[in-house]
Amino acid sequence: MEQNFEQIIIYTVVFALIFIIVYFYLRKQKKKSKIVAEKIAIAKQDGLFEPVSLHPVIDLGDCIQTGACIVACPEEDILGIINGKATTINASRCIGHGACFHACPTEAISLCIGTEKRGVELPHINYNFETNIPGMFIAGELGGMGLIKNAVEQGKQATESITKTIKNKHQAQYDLLIIGAGPAGISASLTAKKYGLNSLTVEQDSLGGTVFTFPRSKIVMTSAMDLPLFGKVKLKETSKADLLDVWLRALQKNNIDIKENTKVENIEKEDDYFKVTTTNGDIISSKTVLLAIGRRGTPRKLNIQGENLEKVAYRLLEPEDISNKQILVVGGGDSAIESALLLADNNEVTLSYRKNIFQRLKRKNHDKISQAIQEKKVNIRFNTNLTKINKDDIVLSSVVDNSEEEIKNDLVYIFAGGELPSQFLHKIGLKITKKYGEAILKH
Ligand SMILES: Cc1cc2nc3c(=O)[nH]c(=O)nc-3n(C[C@H](O)[C@H](O)[C@H](O)COP(=O)(O)OP(=O)(O)OC[C@H]3O[C@@H](n4cnc5c(N)ncnc54)[C@H](O)[C@@H]3O)c2cc1C
Repeated sequence: MEQNFEQIIIYTVVFALIFIIVYFYLRKQKKKSKIVAEKIAIAKQDGLFEPVSLHPVIDLGDCIQTGACIVACPEEDILGIINGKATTINASRCIGHGACFHACPTEAISLCIGTEKRGVELPHINYNFETNIPGMFIAGELGGMGLIKNAVEQGKQATESITKTIKNKHQAQYDLLIIGAGPAGISASLTAKKYGLNSLTVEQDSLGGTVFTFPRSKIVMTSAMDLPLFGKVKLKETSKADLLDVWLRALQKNNIDIKENTKVENIEKEDDYFKVTTTNGDIISSKTVLLAIGRRGTPRKLNIQGENLEKVAYRLLEPEDISNKQILVVGGGDSAIESALLLADNNEVTLSYRKNIFQRLKRKNHDKISQAIQEKKVNIRFNTNLTKINKDDIVLSSVVDNSEEEIKNDLVYIFAGGELPSQFLHKIGLKITKKYGEAILKH
C-alpha cells in the first residue's frame, strides 16, 4: 500500500515535470511565433514580404523545425519559424546564396525565381549555355542561379562549350570576349587560358563582381570552389578581401589581365563574328561572346562635370573605414538613405534629393532619416540637383529657382537608380521569358 502510494507520488511528480516543461516550451514557441508574425506584418507593410528574385520556398510537409536554415542564413530575418514551420519574412532581401537550401537536413527548401504575382525575366539558354544567338553564351547569375560557386562552375562549363564551337576561319581579334569579371567571368577567363583561347575580359567596374559592391564583409561559401588552373579553394566563411586575394592570385599566376572600367554598350552580330562597342569608344571583334554580367545592372550616372573624379562612387563599400569627411549623398531611395545614415555617425553628411519629400521609402528608413534630419545629423537639401563636382567642393542647384549652393566636399555618393540587365539583353536581341516561381535549385 505504502509502495503504491510512493509510486503514485513519483508518477505524479514526473507527469507534473513533463507538463511544466511542455507548457513552457509551447509558451516559448508561441511567443517566438508571435514575434515572427509581427515581423511578417511589418515586412508586408514595407513591401519586403514578396520576393523579387531568387528566394527559398519551404515545403511545409517536410519542414521539421530544426532552425538550421535560419542559423545558416547570414542575412537578418529572411527566414523565421511560425507555429512549428519555417517561413520567409523579408523575402525581397534574400540574395539567393542558397545557404538555407544546403543547411536544411530534411531537404524541405527549394530556391525559386519570381512569384505568381511578380515574374522575373530570364534569358533562354540551352544545355551548353548558348543563347538564341549562336556564338553568344551566358554564365553565372544572369542565367538565374545565384551563388559564387555556381557562377565559378558555370563560367568553366560555358567556356568549355565555347572551345568546341570556335571555328578558325574567322578574322576576329579574339576567339572569346568575356563580359563581366565577377566569379563567372573570372572562372571563364582562367578556363579560356587553360584551353589556349585568345580571349579578353572586360569589366565595367573593377574585378570581383556583385559580392564586393555591398556593405557586408562576411562571405559564405556553401561548398568548395574549384577554380580552373588554380585548384580547389576550401573557404567556408571568408572575407571579401580574402576572396578577392584568391582570385587575384589565380589571375596573376596565369598572366591574365582584366580590362577594368570598360562597359559594353552594344553587341552586334556581323556574319560570323560579333562587333562589340564599349563606353570607352573601343570596338572589339570576337568570334564568340560570354555574358557573365550578373543580374544587378549598371548604376545610372548623372553625366555632369567632375563625375569622373576619383572621389565619386555609386555604391558604398566599407562605411566603417570612412571618417571625418564632408560627404554628399545624392538620391531619395532606400540605398541613398541607408548610406547617408551609415556615414552620418562619423562624418558630416549632406543629402541632396531632387523632390520635395521622400516617396516610397521603407518605413524604417523613413523614420530613421526623419529623426536624423531633425537631430541635424544629416543636412538635407530637398529640391536640388547636383550640377558640378570639383576637387574640394560640389555645386547644388535649386530646382525651384535655379539658385546655386557651393558646399565643401571630400566624397560624393550617387544613388540615381540603375539600368537593369534585361534592357541590355533586349537591345542585343536575346530571347527572354518571365519566370513565375519556378524552382532553380531543387533536391
Ligand atoms: C549582398 C550580397 C551578398 C552575397 N553573399 C554571398 C555569399 O555570401 N555567398 C555566395 O555564394 N553568394 C553570395 N551572393 C551572391 C553572389 O554575389 C552572386 O551569385 C555572384 O556574384 C554571381 O556571380 P556572377 O559572376 O554571375 O555575377 P556578378 O558577381 O554580378 O558579376 C557581374 C560583373 O559584370 C559586370 N558587368 C555588368 N554589366 C556589364 C557590362 N555591360 N559591361 C562590362 N561589365 C559588366 C559587373 O560590374 C560585375 O562585376 C551575394 C550577393 C549579394 C548581393
